[in-house]
Amino acid sequence: MTRQFIVGGNWKMNGSQATVDSLVQGLNSATLDKSVEVVVAPPALYVAKVAQTFKAGQVAGQNTYCASKGAFTGEISPEMLKDVGAQWVILGHSERRHVFGENDALVAKKVKHALAVGMQVMFCVGETLDEREANRTTEVVFQQLQAVADAIDEAEWAHVVIAYEPVWAIGTGKVATPEQAQEVHAAIRGWLSDKVSAAVSQATRIMYGGSVNAGNCKELGKKPDVDGFLVGGASLKPEFIDIINCQQ
Ligand code: PGA
Repeated sequence: MTRQFIVGGNWKMNGSQATVDSLVQGLNSATLDKSVEVVVAPPALYVAKVAQTFKAGQVAGQNTYCASKGAFTGEISPEMLKDVGAQWVILGHSERRHVFGENDALVAKKVKHALAVGMQVMFCVGETLDEREANRTTEVVFQQLQAVADAIDEAEWAHVVIAYEPVWAIGTGKVATPEQAQEVHAAIRGWLSDKVSAAVSQATRIMYGGSVNAGNCKELGKKPDVDGFLVGGASLKPEFIDIINCQQ
């Protein structure tokens, strides 16, 4: 089974109207590998604008709440993201988990609700450095996966892409080696096969994220279970184009 390579740009809390325009313009005018699915995730305030102007791929939100509307000050719903033209949402990002205290149960509810609304979900998992050093990587990642698997139906996995993002590699310049990434990606695929189904295991794309750049993406992208990248810092730079084109 061939899984379409996917590259996401997580712009996090960066930019202004002017820099967002120039990022979009740069991508719209670049020659991009047509076989790669490209998704950019601007800050929520700029999603509507980017959804109207971005021609090189699709648009994601960086977070949504697990309800459609109501008294949830400061939150946005996946319905709202969809209303302004976004097709995707990133959920369970390590900054949401570790800076804003989101736990597995909340992330699972958010994934469930976003899928029910018809969004595509980039669902992030990953271990901290302490957890890795204590040999708890797969235990932690499997627990994060289980929470979502308990909340969604088998058919809904068709709209989920898993992003494996070791917390120690995010924004640190310390990228996982291709072997480290492959090892966890293969473990995730094995877990999907055991706990969900063989078909879901084969079809589900697993992106790697954490200090991906133009220099390391080629080797990472050659690994059989690495189906794409979720890129933070480098997605704000011209090298994002090289990362999208890493398989050429
Ligand atoms: P980074 O971020 O590429 O800056 O390490 C990745 C992410 O948080 O998705």
